[in-house]
Amino acid sequence: MLPFAHVLAGFTLGFTFRKELGRILRETPSCSSITGLAPEHLAAVGITALALDFDGVLAPHGFPEPLPEAREWLIRCSTVFGTDRIFILSNKPTEARRIWFRNHFPEIRFISGVRKKPYPDGLHKVGELAHAPLSAILMVDDRLLTGCLAALTAGARPLYIRSPYRSFRHRPLAETFFMLLRAGERFFFKGASRL
Ligand SMILES: [Mg+2]
Repeated sequence: MLPFAHVLAGFTLGFTFRKELGRILRETPSCSSITGLAPEHLAAVGITALALDFDGVLAPHGFPEPLPEAREWLIRCSTVFGTDRIFILSNKPTEARRIWFRNHFPEIRFISGVRKKPYPDGLHKVGELAHAPLSAILMVDDRLLTGCLAALTAGARPLYIRSPYRSFRHRPLAETFFMLLRAGERFFFKGASRL
């Protein structure tokens, strides 16, 4: 498979799901981040398993471990869902992150060996491992064209993080790149829902 096949898939699948992505954008408040997400509320609306992106959702780009407030949120989620129903679905499942989770949340599993988001493969694997229907799985991601699109493609539920964690001091080039990428996505899908 081409190394950037998932990027091309983002464009083609993104066009197919442009109305849904536009609706997600319209309905997501600009201050959304994980700390504002009450796990009890998610469970109350039928969510039984979580698929979490890492970069931007649990920490800024390139960080080896979640931020302290993200760790606290993971603990809250663990008490509601159980750690064996929480998964990390990142396009960059680095070894350092895997080791950190093994030491701190050993039951939270990394999904690897699947095609990258927006392909739905990772969410299908979450469904199998959690024994949960895809409609009860929440994909939490700060990118419309990767995680949110993967959720739409798989039939899972997307939750768009519009205020991602960022550290321009730590990774100035990567953070600037992804800031522009996210802004580009929002610009496109703001109007795309009317196409
Ligand atoms: Mg991300």
